[in-house]
Amino acid sequence: MPTILFVEDEYPMRVALEDAFKHCGYEVASASDGEAGLKLVEERKPDLVILDVMLPHMDGFEVCKQLRQRGFTKPILMLTARSQEVDKVIGLELGADDYVTKPFGDRELLARVKALLRRASHEPPELGNYRFGTVDIDFTHFIAEKNGYSLRLTSTEFSLLHLLISQKGKVLTREELLNKVWGYEFFPQSRTVDNHILRLRQKLEDDPNHPRHILTMHGLGYKFVD
Ligand code: CA
Repeated sequence: MPTILFVEDEYPMRVALEDAFKHCGYEVASASDGEAGLKLVEERKPDLVILDVMLPHMDGFEVCKQLRQRGFTKPILMLTARSQEVDKVIGLELGADDYVTKPFGDRELLARVKALLRRASHEPPELGNYRFGTVDIDFTHFIAEKNGYSLRLTSTEFSLLHLLISQKGKVLTREELLNKVWGYEFFPQSRTVDNHILRLRQKLEDDPNHPRHILTMHGLGYKFVD
C-alpha cells in the first residue's frame, strides 16, 4: 500500500487523519512541523504528502516549495483553513497538486488522495520520448530537459503535458483537462488548470508571456503545437 505523510501541527487532527488512512490500509507517517516533515520525506519516501498550510516556524507553502526544490515529484495535497482563493493559488503555484479546505470530511480527503495516487501511478507511457523546441521529455522515466538542463516537473505537470501532447493540435477545454488529469468532476475549479498551464509555460517556453507550444484558445481552452 502507498505511504502517506501528514504534516499537521494540530494533534487531534493528525491522529484523526492517521486513523482514517490506516483504516483504509495505507502506510502512514506524520510530522508536527515542516522541518520534521522534510526529514521524514527523505527517510520514508512517501507516495503522497498532505501538508497543512498553517504550521509553526515554517508554513506549508515554504515546505511545499522546498520539497519541489529538492526534487520531490510525488503528489502534494495542501490543507487550508481559510477558503481564500489566494491560498489555493499560492499553493498551486509553489507546486502543490491539489488542496482541500478545512473543515472537510474523511471521505472527501480519501477520494482526493485516491485520485492523485491513481494518476501518479497510471501515467500512460505510450509517448516515450518527445521533443519540441529545445525541450526533451522522457515520459517513461519522468525526465524533462530544456537546452540540456534538467527541469523539475511534478507528476501533475507531466500528466497535463502528456495529455496536451497526445492530443496535439486539438483544443482541450478546461473541463476536459480537469476530468482527465485531476480525475474528478465535482470540483470545477478552472483556476487549477490555468495555474498549472502557467507553471508549465514558465518551465518549458522560451518566452512564457508569448508561448509558442502551449497555446490559449480564448473562450475555448488550450492546445499544444510543436
Ligand atoms: Ca495547523
